[in-house]
Amino acid sequence: MRLKGRPVPEELPPKPAAPPCPICGKPVPVEGAAAARLRPFCSARCADVDLGRWFGGAYAIPGPPPELDEDPPDSESGDIGARYRS
Ligand SMILES: [Zn+2]
Repeated sequence: MRLKGRPVPEELPPKPAAPPCPICGKPVPVEGAAAARLRPFCSARCADVDLGRWFGGAYAIPGPPPELDEDPPDSESGDIGARYRS
């Protein structure tokens, strides 16, 4: 009894699979102009969800913190002295 030479490789899909939609995790359609425009999302709805997250601040943008005003709030003339006196 002879052993067959090589194990049968697992069948691969004919086309490379696109990464799943980052919003809902569904497979993203590979073909079609509309799908290409929406990539990496599976649908316009998921693209909108992503956009909404950006506007909602869910994604932090790395960078220096905004400059803080270092002027004290009570810098108007005379106010501080009057407060301490009373
Ligand atoms: Zn999706």
